[in-house]
Order: sequence, then structure tokens, then C-alpha cells
Amino acid sequence: MTDMRQRTTNVTAYGDLTSPEVPGALDGATLVWPVGGLEQHGPHLPLSVDFDIPDALARQVVADVGGLLLPGQPFSARSLPQSGGGLHFPGTVHIGGGTFVDYLTHCLRALARLEPARLVIINGHYENEGLLFEAIDGCEPATTFPHTEIVAFSWWSLVEDEWLGKHVPEFPGWHAEHAGLTETSLMMYLRPEVVRAARPTHATPPPPGVYRHPVDVDVMSNQGVLSSTTGAGAELGEKLFWHVLDGITRTLSAGPAHPAPA
Ligand SMILES: [Zn+2]
Repeated sequence: MTDMRQRTTNVTAYGDLTSPEVPGALDGATLVWPVGGLEQHGPHLPLSVDFDIPDALARQVVADVGGLLLPGQPFSARSLPQSGGGLHFPGTVHIGGGTFVDYLTHCLRALARLEPARLVIINGHYENEGLLFEAIDGCEPATTFPHTEIVAFSWWSLVEDEWLGKHVPEFPGWHAEHAGLTETSLMMYLRPEVVRAARPTHATPPPPGVYRHPVDVDVMSNQGVLSSTTGAGAELGEKLFWHVLDGITRTLSAGPAHPAPA
């Protein structure tokens, strides 16, 4: 079922609208916002992984629902040692959590004024998730977004256990799937031209929900890779991409959990 599906990358961008076009284009529209990061992903993957994956998913969602693509949010919430290697490796550009919540809140309030029918937010950076949800909830969406359904998620949240059991039998937890099998495979499918030949693997991923100081970077990771990359390939990345897309389609077609008041 996942074979031979064609990705769409060229979609209608919100930024290409003119001001007079906005009210008509937004009437009944779905806005899709990729929220990414710029973070070290070992010696084989580019810094933009956490942006590239939600951006590709967002483009496909926009194409599938006839929506509009918002410019992606490019920077990371602070990378933490046990879920992203932290700041022990060069390249990560991050925004502190309090400022990130403020920044997202301002973005959300501005988006609310557009009154789209639906706002879909796709997160690609592990440490963003709680802050993103706090920003949305903190806006008091019942008041701020009275006419807009909001669906926000990290892409990995839509990967089903059955899929993982079949394709990632040694699954270390999503905190440790950092530059590991799933991200490497997705990047080999989405942007093979930027994936380097090195394939470091790390046999002892850090446990979830544990922070340690002092941290031994060489015990925690292998060159910034937190888990196994063994078996990574474009074919697995393609399967995973369309599995997540199917999950997004199901999530969106399920409709609001609680209908908005009339
Ligand atoms: Zn990542």
C-alpha cells in the first residue's frame, strides 16, 4: 500500500498570497505549519533534519487537503543531552524555553486573526513538544481560536506500535531515536543528497526521562548519535513517511474531539 506513492513538494504557500487575496484564500482553509529545529545530528545527517522531516510532511498534507503552507519555524528549543546530544556538539542553534513559548504564543495569536478553518502544526524536534503544547494551551484556544480547529503533534506520535515492532524491533524510545534508524532512513528518502556515508551506531541509548550531571558524552552517544543506525535506508524511510502521512490523514478526518460551540 505504501509503494510508488509520489511526494508533492510544490504546494500553495501562504507567503505567495497578496494581502487582498488573504480573506478569500483563508475562508474555510487549512493552514499547515511545520515547526522544526536546527540541531546536531551526528556526522552523517545535516543540522536541518528536525526541520526537513516536518516540512516534507507538511507539504504533502497541504497538497492532499488543498491547504496553504506557512513558512516553517526553523530553530530548536534547547537540545538536551539525553534526547539530542545537547550543546556538547557544534552546530545547534536554540531558543530558551520561556522565550520559545512566548515566540510561539505571538505567532499563534497572529495566526488566530486569520481565522483559518483548521491549523495543523507538525513538530519535528523532540524538545519542542511540551513548549509547543504549552503555547497553544496557554492561548486559551476556546477564546483565541473560536472558529479554528487546531491539530498539533510531533510526527513520531503517529507511528503505530505495530509498525515499530515490525520495522524497528530494537526501538530505544523516541527520545533516543536521534540521528538513529528512523531519522537516518527518512533523510535517505527525502534528501539523500545531504546524507553522508558515515553510519555511526550506538548500542547503549540513554534511558528516557533521566537527566544526568556530569554527563560522559562518549557513553551517552556515538558522535552525537544516540541509538542504532543499522539497517537504515531510503526504502524504510519511504515506508515510514507514508505511514506517518496515513496517520495524519486519519487524525484530520477524525474531526474535532469536542465540537466547537455553535
Ligand atoms: Zn532529530
